[in-house]
Amino acid sequence: MNRRDKAFVAVAAELVEAARLFGGRGWALATSGNFSARVGERAVAITRSGCDKQQLLPDDLVLVNLDGGALDPPDARPSAEAAIHGQLYRRRVSVGAVLHVHSPAATVMSRLCEPEGAVVLSGWEMQKGLAGVLTHEQIVRIPIFGNTQDVASLAAVVGDHVTAHPEHPGCLIAGHGIYGWGASVTEARCHIEALEFLCECEWRLRAAAVPDGDRK
Ligand SMILES: [Zn+2]
Repeated sequence: MNRRDKAFVAVAAELVEAARLFGGRGWALATSGNFSARVGERAVAITRSGCDKQQLLPDDLVLVNLDGGALDPPDARPSAEAAIHGQLYRRRVSVGAVLHVHSPAATVMSRLCEPEGAVVLSGWEMQKGLAGVLTHEQIVRIPIFGNTQDVASLAAVVGDHVTAHPEHPGCLIAGHGIYGWGASVTEARCHIEALEFLCECEWRLRAAAVPDGDRK
């Protein structure tokens, strides 16, 4: 397997499209965010470190193993968060793509709800954009994990969580951003879009509910 492989070329094109779309929405500013897709049992295409997602090119995708180690090119610098992606592929064979953005509403909600350890959603039609959710009446918990610069420990926490809760389509990292995953790039994109929209709805609802006397 290398970057000329058909499977790599196909997912690289899908990842470029997703990165440019989300980058254009301001969800991956200042080279933040990282995007990946599985290209084999033990290989993943992932964005290299430090690239502008709004102008991402297929050459910005590199091939790594499930530990985030570079395979092609061998001296590539994959995303700093490659280990988190690797844990998701390692722990759940059904995961085919992992997308991570620093989108505003999810990042705000990750701080507001950090003490509860989750954003709890119910009553929103958009919940049905999440795999396995069939009705707005369902209570959906999106877990929030504390941020750290120790990526290996964060990867272990996220990995343990998806092993215990395989039904979850994504998570928030407090004050940092959002991870969404799915069987394909299309499904992972859908999960990121739904989660960001739901976080924005919750954020606006909470802001609107503040009594006038409490506004500063
Ligand atoms: Zn990040």
